[in-house]
Amino acid sequence: MSQYWSPAIKALTPYVPGEQPRERVIKLNTNENPYPPAPGVGQALRDYATDHLRLYPDPTSAALRATLAKTFSIESQQVFVGNGSDEVLALAFQAFFCHGAPLDVPTITYSFYPVYANLYNVELRPHSLNASWEVDIEALGSASERSGVIFANPNAPTGHAHSLESIEKLLKRVTDRVVLVDEAYVDFGAESAIALIDRYPNLLVTGTFSKSRSLAGLRLGYAVGSAELIDGLQRVKDSFNSYPVDSLASLVGIAALNDEAHFDACRERVITTRERTRQRLEALGFEVLPSKANFVLAQHPDYAGAQLFAGLRERGILVRHFNTPELNNFLRITIGTDDEMDSLLEALQVICG
Ligand SMILES: *Cc1c(COP(=O)(O)O)cnc(C)c1O
Repeated sequence: MSQYWSPAIKALTPYVPGEQPRERVIKLNTNENPYPPAPGVGQALRDYATDHLRLYPDPTSAALRATLAKTFSIESQQVFVGNGSDEVLALAFQAFFCHGAPLDVPTITYSFYPVYANLYNVELRPHSLNASWEVDIEALGSASERSGVIFANPNAPTGHAHSLESIEKLLKRVTDRVVLVDEAYVDFGAESAIALIDRYPNLLVTGTFSKSRSLAGLRLGYAVGSAELIDGLQRVKDSFNSYPVDSLASLVGIAALNDEAHFDACRERVITTRERTRQRLEALGFEVLPSKANFVLAQHPDYAGAQLFAGLRERGILVRHFNTPELNNFLRITIGTDDEMDSLLEALQVICG
């Protein structure tokens, strides 16, 4: 605490990212991709003339937005880009959720939403998951007044994904405010709600290059929705930082998008390894929630989450443990390479006797 901080800053509880270790460990704690980005990314980096660094980037990121639009078969005016999808989410909170009514959100979801709610003074209306650890999509937006609805699909850290059909049901009910679907993990087996943006002008879908495109270090995220929503985000962006996406990130992002084959091969590998890991964890006695993401959430009936986390850490394997009453017993395990998962499973076998 400092006397120079404003009262609002004193009251914040900032998001705590997963640990980024300096020593060599098997790192399964922050949902990064175990495979390298597309080969074209390396070429783009080598071709990038350092003279570009002297100049400001295109404030509208037109080339990157056009490539995203082509990828999703939509128009450039339906695409917004930012410095990681966390930034895009923050701008969306400012643009759409500051209405003085509660924002509908699942109780267990991406832990950055409550942080932004706090920062932008948005009241939350949390809805419990159902008995199968699924987001209760019927409950979201069922109250008469709201400032919006936000959830992740697949959800984090549970991994469950709703069908487009159930998302569309929600959109038929909630027409007065923005429904934000965070699709950070959609490429690992879920259906994208981008297919619905032409019919629902209040639907905003966010995504990231950090997970399925193996570019967490680059900081590139996007939002897709009607031109009026994208204009709203643009207004906030241009009132805060005109150049959130640097020229190198744009080039690299375009190179990644242009290699569909690499993208498909990597996500297929992650999905295959996920299913194999799930079976083997179950064989060790774990309950593993069905996941459409690049992680699984698992708990063991005989061993506490904290105990397993500590045992793995001692063996140089990092996973994520959440110190909340509902998730205390679980581990969230990122899907790495087959070799990494073998090491994890061997270690768990030893720890669990
Ligand atoms: C990882 C993640 C993000 C943030 O992605 P960045 O683009 O790296 O900022 C957003 N939402 C969810 C649900 C995530 O898991």
